[in-house]
Amino acid sequence: MKLNLQLFGVPFRRTSKTKKRMRRTHLKKEVGAITTCPKCGATIRPHRACLSCGFYKDEEVVKVNKDEEK
Ligand SMILES: [Zn+2]
Repeated sequence: MKLNLQLFGVPFRRTSKTKKRMRRTHLKKEVGAITTCPKCGATIRPHRACLSCGFYKDEEVVKVNKDEEK
């Protein structure tokens, strides 16, 4: 298939390494919000039940299998 280049914006110059890297300094993965469990102190995500103790808002909402923990 032959492309009709008149239909496209064609780069006048190749983007330099520096310009490319400067542009990509904004491309990074954001770190999600993180809090600690008030019951056990484990690092958890807000508005979610704690994975290590199974508590959410002073109430056990998830049964955590303690035997599988080391
Ligand atoms: Zn916890």
